[in-house]
Amino acid sequence: MPAMQAIRLFAPGDMRIVEMPRPQPGPHEVLCRVARVGMCGTDYAIYTGEASFVKSGDVRFPLTLGHEWSALVEETGEGVTRFGPGDRVIGDTGVACGHCNECLLGRYPRCDRAQAVGTVNAWDGAYAEYILMPERHLFPLPPPVSLDNGAMVEPAATALYAVQKAGVQIGDTVLVQGSGPIGILAAKLAKLSGASIVFITGRKEIKLRRALDFGIDAAINTTRESVSGVLRQRVPGGKVDRLIEASGSVELFNESLDLVQPGGAMSVVAFYDRPAEGFDIDRFVFSDITLVAVPGSLGMYPPILSLMAAGLLDASFLITERAPLFAAPDILPRLKENAEGRIKVMLEGAEKPGE
Ligand SMILES: [Zn+2]
Ligand SMILES: [Zn+2]
Repeated sequence: MPAMQAIRLFAPGDMRIVEMPRPQPGPHEVLCRVARVGMCGTDYAIYTGEASFVKSGDVRFPLTLGHEWSALVEETGEGVTRFGPGDRVIGDTGVACGHCNECLLGRYPRCDRAQAVGTVNAWDGAYAEYILMPERHLFPLPPPVSLDNGAMVEPAATALYAVQKAGVQIGDTVLVQGSGPIGILAAKLAKLSGASIVFITGRKEIKLRRALDFGIDAAINTTRESVSGVLRQRVPGGKVDRLIEASGSVELFNESLDLVQPGGAMSVVAFYDRPAEGFDIDRFVFSDITLVAVPGSLGMYPPILSLMAAGLLDASFLITERAPLFAAPDILPRLKENAEGRIKVMLEGAEKPGE
């Protein structure tokens, strides 16, 4: 049986490169040679064990991380019709059971027996030479979309779901809290959705500058400016129509409730290491805003791939560092150290199938 190298997480803090059997594609399955994997804050939170879903026992060890990836088809199982060797592909973040009523209706994200790729109840992710995926969860990369951008589709799709659930419309004023990849991508996608002005907040000048270079209208450095002060000067009523909370900070989540116009909306697209103590329910009720949850990228791959193929979204602009795939065990433990300008670290695997 052929083997492969994989980076396995055996417990929080215990990540090792091991040799394990290379998965064999069964019927309707595709074996993919990993080309790119984006390192994600979620990977870090699972590695350290600080994620609430690690503490709750929803992450089973050992697992292979990696849910932001692009790959080259290596081998197809019986009955696969849409892909052949060498095709460039990306995959869903969930692998559904394929048999329940929701699956039979094609509503895979609602399958309650789904496994999440590289996270909760994991289907083994892309921190490995190969990843196995059912054909139904794969998307072809259109020719103009690079492998780098392919690995950025998942965070971009998650950001787009946040923009759409916040109901961003032409002319809206928008504030995005947080200048990580999801925050910057959400701000860009709000702009592409027709927002009149998009603000982004953060604490690192170098990341905010990159956000401005990416086409965001205004950056607020919260280490020296007050968000409400800036909004009072720049938008009617001192509040925005739509707010996207992508910072993962309980304090910013609470403050954000006061920054949205009555009738506006706030979407939450982050994970928090603790419950929102201090959440003032009465103040929320009086605010007359809509609060919506964004757990992932549901159904948003096709519009992101269209934007990328049309040249309207180059998410690879947010890649600030590159490293070989198997350097992940050295990099992940230090992902938050010296992270002044770090936005997305891209791991590089194979460029060609069978390489
Ligand atoms: Zn991610
Ligand atoms: Zn199912």
